Amino acid sequence: MYSTRFFLFTRRSKQMKNMLTIFILSLLVLSTLPSSPAEPPNVCIIGSGIAGSSVAHFLRQYSASDDPPTIGQIQIFERNGVVGGRMATVSVSGETFEAGASILHPKNFHALNFTKLLNLKIRKPSSSSFSLGIWDGHKFVFKTLTSNSKLPLVQKMVSLTNSILMFVRYGFSLFRMNNFVESAVDSFLKYYESVESRPVFKTVDEMLKWAGLYNFTKRTLQAELVDAGLAPLLMEELVTVITRINYGQSICMSGLAGAVSLAGSGGGLWSIEGGNWQMAAGLINRSDVALHLHTEIQSISYLGDYYELNSTEGNSYTCKVTVIATPLDELNIRFIPAISIPERKLQHTHATFVRGLLNPAYFGFEAVSEIPELVGTIEDPELPFSSISVLKQHNETDMTYKIFSREPMEDALLDHIFSVRRETVRINWGAYPHYSAPERFAPFLLDGLDLYYVNAFENAASTMETSAVAAENIARLILLRFSGQVDSSLSNLKRSNSCTSTLHSDL
Ligand SMILES: Cc1cc2nc3c(=O)[nH]c(=O)nc-3n(C[C@H](O)[C@H](O)[C@H](O)COP(=O)(O)OP(=O)(O)OC[C@H]3O[C@@H](n4cnc5c(N)ncnc54)[C@H](O)[C@@H]3O)c2cc1C
Repeated sequence: MYSTRFFLFTRRSKQMKNMLTIFILSLLVLSTLPSSPAEPPNVCIIGSGIAGSSVAHFLRQYSASDDPPTIGQIQIFERNGVVGGRMATVSVSGETFEAGASILHPKNFHALNFTKLLNLKIRKPSSSSFSLGIWDGHKFVFKTLTSNSKLPLVQKMVSLTNSILMFVRYGFSLFRMNNFVESAVDSFLKYYESVESRPVFKTVDEMLKWAGLYNFTKRTLQAELVDAGLAPLLMEELVTVITRINYGQSICMSGLAGAVSLAGSGGGLWSIEGGNWQMAAGLINRSDVALHLHTEIQSISYLGDYYELNSTEGNSYTCKVTVIATPLDELNIRFIPAISIPERKLQHTHATFVRGLLNPAYFGFEAVSEIPELVGTIEDPELPFSSISVLKQHNETDMTYKIFSREPMEDALLDHIFSVRRETVRINWGAYPHYSAPERFAPFLLDGLDLYYVNAFENAASTMETSAVAAENIARLILLRFSGQVDSSLSNLKRSNSCTSTLHSDL
């Protein structure tokens, strides 16, 4: 009995010794290993337009060499069945045209880089000069020459004559307008400076002030142009035509969006062969993103250390970081707790596509060929459309047109304007903000934690490029927060925002 107990004791003490040795050895091994890294934060992006896809792209690009990775899984939620948002195409009689965002500026450098990176093909505008007419509802107050000739010399002569016609009507104001636009574009170019010399911006105000663009958002385009020395006639006619085409608004819109709109009427404009939406598709494809199409997010709840996103179909997603990449103005997303942003209205633009033929009599002409290829309009509440342009001339009696208007184009009205209408497609866009100076901006960081809002920048101007520029800044904000250099001033935002009286739209 004794011997058995002794045997058991010695056996147990040996086992304990072995366990102790294993424990000490494990401690030694563990102490030599690097401490196990915490899970990198996952990022959920609502919206697959150029803003959402650019956030994903820049997050991956700027953290590509991080070891351990700064960013975990990226998910994009898109309520539609296709990506691209307002970069969308429309099919008219089997042919495809841009339905929303259609033109890019030669200095839209993010878009140019995306195009190169994704191997997309640039479509340059046709070199032949198109004719422009400014319609006041009764007559064309200004009209350039049209030429159907394909001869380069004839085209050059027509283009030169049209420049002279413009100069005769608007004089040196044209150069002043050009200088105004150039100076705004030059300031915008600061957003392409290297990341070493360019700060990460916590607010839109800060971002605009740094580039010298903030003051343009505080005054109307009209006030800016008066200061720039433009003649009233140029503002009432050509400038108004441009702002009505590009933003469906008058020269009372805020100055920066107005300048961007004027920049979008210059030379060298381009687009992507096959559709600008391919930028978003390509960026999503190469950014290791889990894309959820047909998934509409209806609520975002902050649950302590993460957000829970709920879709209309009843699915839940857990996200450390949430990025809203769509305008919140007409959405019913429920925020828990509620967030507060300045109220903003969207300008609705009705894009109507018609395959058929304009009625020359509507414009006081005998022949269709007398109607300019681009009919712009002055500011008059009686005018039922902002512009009509020829998208494609199939032959002399068969064309595809795009009409922009503030109200829907009813059949009776279209039957008045067109002598032939083979097909009509209507799209009602909640297109861009209704710009009203002085602009007030929602914060990029909606709750001072990890809920970001790219489209806060849209009050400055709404374009594909400005969305990409804002998205790049958001990606840098996120990386700054999770790369170990937590910026403590960001977490203070929550408290200061909730007390700010100017923030009043509770969502
Ligand atoms: C008629 C028109 C003409 C334009 N012309 C030009 C132009 O020539 N050049 C130019 O640069 N810009 C132009 N713009 C502006 C340009 O389209 C926008 O500034 C830009 O495309 C905005 O991109 P975004 O990604 O910020 O938003 P969006 O493209 O609107 O993307 C937001 C996405 O979020 C999705 N979404 C919304 N809510 C939810 C939800 N709850 N859950 C899931 N998904 C959701 C939407 O379906 C959408 O796909 C034009 C716009 C319009 C409407």
